[in-house]
Amino acid sequence: MSITDRPQPDPIADIKLPNGYMLWAIQAMEEAIGSDGVTEVLRHAGLERLIGSPPPNDMELGDLTFRDFTNFGVAVLELHGRAGKGLVQRMGRYAARRTIEDLPGIFNLASAALKMLPTNKQLHAALLQMANGFREIYNKAGVELHLTIEEQDDKFVYQAVECPSCAGKQASEPLCALWVGAFEEGASWVTGGKKFQVREVACRALGAPACVWEINKTPVG
Ligand SMILES: [Zn+2]
Repeated sequence: MSITDRPQPDPIADIKLPNGYMLWAIQAMEEAIGSDGVTEVLRHAGLERLIGSPPPNDMELGDLTFRDFTNFGVAVLELHGRAGKGLVQRMGRYAARRTIEDLPGIFNLASAALKMLPTNKQLHAALLQMANGFREIYNKAGVELHLTIEEQDDKFVYQAVECPSCAGKQASEPLCALWVGAFEEGASWVTGGKKFQVREVACRALGAPACVWEINKTPVG
């Protein structure tokens, strides 16, 4: 896979990142490749300042940006070759789990009302609540996010212009497998353990106006 910086500045690269996302990415990679592996990734990403000094476990918008988060994920992809995509997906699963468990108020996915709904409606409600949670975080900072969720016969389509995983990059393949993992984990959690196929079908790094993921409605197991 070839990944390079865009020739023109990407306006979304300077958007601030919720602290927890970088922390959880680091912790997920510590589990998978050990702390020496993470140090190597942080160096490769130009994020030496985070070595031994990760951001706090919250959803506040601190000093880190989408550019930093993208660079971390790209470093994993570049350093780990064929295994990289699986590692990035694992970061997403880990981040979804930590958001739901550590900060349940952000997306409200643990509500009794949600548990009572049919699977299809659980997925739809979870996606809407996720998008609303992100919008609220960014509204406070005066940033409007362009997130849309469309329901089709067999799937939900989630579209994000402000994607933190490919900001400022152009690439020969989609870069945002992290969110495949996040949607898989979130969908499984909200439906009591069912598994759903998730695909990234468009990526800004390949010139699309937004990153787009499809979540199949029919569980695979
Ligand atoms: Zn993306």
